[in-house]
Amino acid sequence: GIEIKNIYKRFGSLTVVNGVSVDIADGEFFVMLGPSGCGKTTTLRMVAGLETASEGQIFINGRDMTHAEPRHRDIAMAFQDYGLYPNMTVFQNIEFPLKIRKLAPAERRRKVEETAGRLGISDYLGRKPAQMSGGQRQRVSLARALVRNPKVFLMDEPLSNLDAKLRAVMRTEIKKLVTDLGITTIYVTHDQIEAMSMADRIAVMRKGDMVQVAPPLQVYDRPATCFVADFIGSPP
Ligand code: ATP
Repeated sequence: GIEIKNIYKRFGSLTVVNGVSVDIADGEFFVMLGPSGCGKTTTLRMVAGLETASEGQIFINGRDMTHAEPRHRDIAMAFQDYGLYPNMTVFQNIEFPLKIRKLAPAERRRKVEETAGRLGISDYLGRKPAQMSGGQRQRVSLARALVRNPKVFLMDEPLSNLDAKLRAVMRTEIKKLVTDLGITTIYVTHDQIEAMSMADRIAVMRKGDMVQVAPPLQVYDRPATCFVADFIGSPP
């Protein structure tokens, strides 16, 4: 799991994350939900090691990773812009993280094919990203993230470039995928429907604070503050 202990992030005089603490269990699907600028991405980036916490500690699977390099954290990430390499085929894109870790070619092929199968993109392995739809590209980016069997998966608005219909399909697929694989997940979104339908627990964020951390129905039925009620759209 992931333990976040009283982390702060300051940029000069601006406090963007204001003393956040939360324990995320092994295999939990944890969603950080909130409006633009509330500090979701910055919190996620501190867990990933892409941003250093100004104060506080982050433990991943029991180890203090507060100051560890991203590559030592056993995490995978996916973003809204898929970050695929345009000159590589789908196969090569998914294979890349295994190649830099120097796995043998046969083992790489086996893992790429298995992961592509899980994501329903086995027929596209020879294509270039530009020859694929947005949904297919997002599947490739998820496959590339998951091919190493990470214990922790961090996603930042992975569906926000897709149309509404595809978003609905991908919500279900992603949830099933990470549940089947038993991966601990932090998922950042400003979309209440995504949060409500995917989360084991939701953290509603506002101005650098987690104002409520609870299962979706509890957030909906018993919002901790007016802000949460407004944001989630709970009945008055
Ligand atoms: P969004 O959904 O718009 O990305 P967010 O909740 O993810 O919003 P963050 O990206 O974490 O919010 O940003 C929180 C605040 O921190 C914003 O006001 C942003 O301008 C500020 N911020 C982020 N990175 C930096 C930086 N490197 N220097 C200064 N301010 C920053």
